[in-house]
Amino acid sequence: MGLAIRDNQTRRLRIGILVVLVIAVGAGFCLFLSGSHFGHAHPVIILDIDTLRADHLGCYGYQRDTSHWIDELASQGTVFEWAFAQAPNTPPSQASILTSLYPRTHGRVTGKDRLPEEVTTLAEVMQAGGFTTAAFVDGGYMAPHSGLSQGFETYHSSPEGLKGLAALGPFVFDWVRENKEENFLLLIHTYDVHTPYDPPPPFREIFLNGLEPSTPGFEPDTKTMKGVMLRARRGELNQLTAADIEYSRALYDGGIRYVDAWIGSFMELLRDNGLLERATIIVLSDHGEEFQEHGSVLHEKLYSTVTHIPLIIRPPGGMTARRVDQVVESIDLMPTILDMVGLDEPQTPMEGTSLFPFLKRRPVSRLEGLGPAFGESPLFGGRVFVADGTHQLLQTRTTEVLELFDFRSDSKEQDDISQQHPEVVGRLGSKIERFDQTSADTTKYLPGVRVIDDQDLEDLRALGYLE
Ligand SMILES: [Zn+2]
Repeated sequence: MGLAIRDNQTRRLRIGILVVLVIAVGAGFCLFLSGSHFGHAHPVIILDIDTLRADHLGCYGYQRDTSHWIDELASQGTVFEWAFAQAPNTPPSQASILTSLYPRTHGRVTGKDRLPEEVTTLAEVMQAGGFTTAAFVDGGYMAPHSGLSQGFETYHSSPEGLKGLAALGPFVFDWVRENKEENFLLLIHTYDVHTPYDPPPPFREIFLNGLEPSTPGFEPDTKTMKGVMLRARRGELNQLTAADIEYSRALYDGGIRYVDAWIGSFMELLRDNGLLERATIIVLSDHGEEFQEHGSVLHEKLYSTVTHIPLIIRPPGGMTARRVDQVVESIDLMPTILDMVGLDEPQTPMEGTSLFPFLKRRPVSRLEGLGPAFGESPLFGGRVFVADGTHQLLQTRTTEVLELFDFRSDSKEQDDISQQHPEVVGRLGSKIERFDQTSADTTKYLPGVRVIDDQDLEDLRALGYLE
């Protein structure tokens, strides 16, 4: 009898332990799937790698090993395979990322414009919602005169300008250690991938493998590449030899690998401070870069080589890798983040759509109401694009030239199929018309005039934007 009671007690104890274990493992599994803080206030980190093409990352199918650590983040998060930037250049595109507004709405269309005070930024909403907000940016078009600093309590712009993560990194590391217990928004922006393509050793050599330019003395510095771009604008296409382009590309890829190595050390810092478990980590870019796929270099056209950007969202604690192939836009980031941290939308309207339904533990496979992507540039002949499902239509307003590409099967957009598919041109053309009509009714912000100092001028000159 006594033995039977002891057996029963032991069995109950064993069952109890088993139940606790099952709950613990289940909870751990859920944590793995969705992160314990997802949908509630938690830290958000944005790694904004200026000029990074999506298709030069391993997780987007690139053959070179440029992105070990970015791929690691992608393997623990959601990769948006077809994210489009709203503009091909920094001033409007970065403003769209941080405001969820198209360039024609937020008003920062050129580098001379300042983001208007009346615009509500992501940082302002999060600061009002009790988050600590900080940005570490690489000067130039991101310097405080841009107006992008709205809502950031800390806005650290490289004091010497354009020195990349080598200069910003120590400040970022100190800030993270000091604020690791907070709920925060942390924006880290770098021009390390931008021209000049000249990463520090050993990254400069890493993909060269004996490659040499065929033009004696050629180096893809900002001045040289800007010269190529300006001459291409005047009709002198494909000025660089294939060897010069391959040399440039290898150095550009070395720059990506350099940034990726920094991200590796940054992830170690996050792990040591418990932030891999607590924080959402986002990787994106404001535009890509052209290597003469359309006769020019740098970034001013709207082809997908320039407008297709990486967008990776890794939730707290990581998750089973997921890929979304529906077309999304960089203006979708702000509503997504606000949803992820449980904050209400601002009273001023956003133009993007929250992608949170893709990120939940039980995700949607398609998000109804997610529109096509629009991008535009009032410069260079007034260009606009719409990307919907599989096709991208580009329109140059001054010449009324239309080009159509199947960006999924022809990712570098070499084959204009507008003549073969007039029905698709018509369908997408009417979307551009609707976009114009809708935005005509939207409240527009008038850009502020920016005030720049000598250092800002120097930075812009170094980036190649001033003569
Ligand atoms: Zn940029």
